[in-house]
Amino acid sequence: MKKCPICEKGNLKEGEVEEEMFGISLGRYKAEICSECGESFMDEAVMDAIEKKAKQLGIWGLAKKIKVVRSGNSLAVRIPADIARFLKLREGKEMLLHPEGTSKLAIEII
Ligand SMILES: [Zn+2]
Repeated sequence: MKKCPICEKGNLKEGEVEEEMFGISLGRYKAEICSECGESFMDEAVMDAIEKKAKQLGIWGLAKKIKVVRSGNSLAVRIPADIARFLKLREGKEMLLHPEGTSKLAIEII
């Protein structure tokens, strides 16, 4: 039996895991799952299949590094065009901005 490389306690067992990206389901995939910590491991073919599915759905590479800029007395961030397209975001749309802890900012479309 293969030992889990993360917790080094559990054994890896064949199973299936639900994959998601940005809250969108990519389907279920074959994985080896740790009996102790629940960590899952996938082979390269499965990783490729997940990437292909994410590209099909238009969500691959949507996470982007951006910079905060000054705009008058406030700070502003630009929303990249492909993220705006994905969210069907238009100028004038109302959004709810709130921190989630001290290192994450959430923007909800309302
Ligand atoms: Zn483990």
